[in-house]
Amino acid sequence: MIRRLVLAAALTLAVPLRAQSVTPGYSPQSATIERATEADVITRPSPAQASAHSRFLSLQPHMAGTPAQARTRDYVVSQMKSWGLETEVRAYKVWMPHPLSARVWRISPDPIELNLQEGPIAEDTTSLTFPQVMPFNGYGAAGDVRGEVVYVNYGLIEDYTQLDSMGVSVKGKIAIARYGRSYRGIKAREAEKHGAVGLIIYSDPADDGYVRGDVYPAGPMRPSHGIQRGSVMNPNGDPSTPGYPSTENAKRIPLSEMEVPRIPVLPMSYGNAAELLRGLSGNSIPQPWQGGLGFRYHVGPGPVQARIAVTTDVNTNPYKEIWDTFGIIRGSEYPDEIVIMGGHRDAWGPGAADNVSGTVSVLEAARAIADQAKAGKRPKRTIVFATWDAEEWGLIGSTEYVEDDSLRLKRSAVGYLNQDDIAQGPNFSGGGSPSLRALLRDIAKKVPDPSHQGSVYDVWRKRANLAADSLEPQMGDPGGGSDFAGFYNHLGIPIADWGFGGPQGVYHSAYDSYHWMSKFGDPNFEYHATAARIGAAMLLRIANADILPYDYVEFARTMRRFASRVDSAIVDKHWKVSGTGLTAAIARMEDAAASFNAARDHALTAQLSKETLRQINSALLEVERQLTRPQGLVTRPWFRNLIYASDENNGYATMVLPSVNEAIRLGDQSGVQRELTDLASRFDAATRVLQRATALMK
Ligand SMILES: [Zn+2]
Repeated sequence: MIRRLVLAAALTLAVPLRAQSVTPGYSPQSATIERATEADVITRPSPAQASAHSRFLSLQPHMAGTPAQARTRDYVVSQMKSWGLETEVRAYKVWMPHPLSARVWRISPDPIELNLQEGPIAEDTTSLTFPQVMPFNGYGAAGDVRGEVVYVNYGLIEDYTQLDSMGVSVKGKIAIARYGRSYRGIKAREAEKHGAVGLIIYSDPADDGYVRGDVYPAGPMRPSHGIQRGSVMNPNGDPSTPGYPSTENAKRIPLSEMEVPRIPVLPMSYGNAAELLRGLSGNSIPQPWQGGLGFRYHVGPGPVQARIAVTTDVNTNPYKEIWDTFGIIRGSEYPDEIVIMGGHRDAWGPGAADNVSGTVSVLEAARAIADQAKAGKRPKRTIVFATWDAEEWGLIGSTEYVEDDSLRLKRSAVGYLNQDDIAQGPNFSGGGSPSLRALLRDIAKKVPDPSHQGSVYDVWRKRANLAADSLEPQMGDPGGGSDFAGFYNHLGIPIADWGFGGPQGVYHSAYDSYHWMSKFGDPNFEYHATAARIGAAMLLRIANADILPYDYVEFARTMRRFASRVDSAIVDKHWKVSGTGLTAAIARMEDAAASFNAARDHALTAQLSKETLRQINSALLEVERQLTRPQGLVTRPWFRNLIYASDENNGYATMVLPSVNEAIRLGDQSGVQRELTDLASRFDAATRVLQRATALMK
């Protein structure tokens, strides 16, 4: 479900280049072997194979909870088996009502029923052959409502503030919001909070339609009847089992206690939205509220009136079975330590980009490493290749799995690499925990870019147009929006993700198809294969390391910048609160990390016993776990990681140091002081672990 935002909005700053003569975490002998192993593994993923997987997996729409998902499950499992991986399927039963009907009428003036279907496109055989997923928003309520229409811009908190100041209320009305600037669950929450009886969310042509480029099938952007489906639930995981796994006999909370919308919410194309927006009158809009349709927008209310009617199987068949799949290569030396690469397997349509592309990257990385293992080169740590179900409904498959296996993951998961929407253009981006960023940059230097202009890193760097040689391209922070959340936000396991982007207007639509992919996204499937090459090399670099290759110097430096922003926010507010304790704790962590790196590089030139290595690595596994707290954020107990979280008022944007920054936003001075002290003590705990690991090498 991930939506990559424009890079200019990213928060990360560049970090200075460091001279790197060694492969961090490797002795000279192991580094020589590892270089050869990686050079071999990156030759193995194949564009032809990627194309074949993509064609099979995107043949038809495969929404979670449908028989089409059994087909993708069986394909992934049988492929992995045929390559010699051990496989496992975990089934969960989750509360996921499916729509039975979704209809919208303009009831005044000139009553008409709008045709919500996306419709076939002659040259796209997928759109001709299979019934499309109904135009609906997952977890929107069933209902039949009518009212005057009010245009609420993006439906953000500040948009409702603006409406208030204009004297316009959505109470008892039907709100119509455009997609963009926030996760759609936030739009549903705010519409409901302000009293709307129903919500329509439409794709404005200024967002991903003709304002941005030619529309499908002439170009890659959204055609006038294209629809963005998607979930409107805000928490992660099955809403009937908050915080625990949806196993067969799990206790379920009743619908009345679930955190899901209570109003019907439907997505709409701009072709249809124009039928409602064109006739609105009333207040003239603030200029930034004007979208890309060919008339002046007004907020209303009315005189246009609409009716929304949604029926679902909520009373007849609300629970559906979902399936996560696992392919396992047991480690030769540290079988109990695991590195995981995963991506979601479900989609709102044929899903060639979202997320057949990610699934294909996982498959091709698995094939590459399995082939090496068959030839006698097994990784030292266990590698797991996962595909998740029902991500699109709220990261459900990965969340239920993480809740199910949390003890084992906390003890033994070394890292999680996520693949979501990874091939829809030529532009590389990557991110994740700052402890794994140096590693991702280094691997990107080893993998050739499909453009033949050098390595992925070279092309990425060139495009970033950096002001100085000493700077690095920006990398993304883990906020929300994809399957890394369970691993990162809930358990504190270091994560990384990467992919290739480009102009795209078929997100969550019936036209996210093999045809779209072959014509626009990745015609030769080389970016699919390249993402898999990066994945395979990342996995091996982590799995084969003598000492786990986290970089806690870069981690601490990144935190230092966040802490200084906290400081200036406090100064701006003239509060009697001090951030110096946190800043000092982060500085201590940076010192400890620098000492650790130096001791590590030195120790690896000598011979360390296997037992010592085991102890060092098990200490390293604890560092980021120390920066989580069991009771989670005050606002959201499931979010235990105190470094990054999705912004609860946006859903897509990232909030850094969320325990502190949420308290700042609330204006809660004593809360801020409490959270600063708490966070500083957790940084000190992480520092102590690093010092323990350093002492083991002396
Ligand atoms: Zn996705």
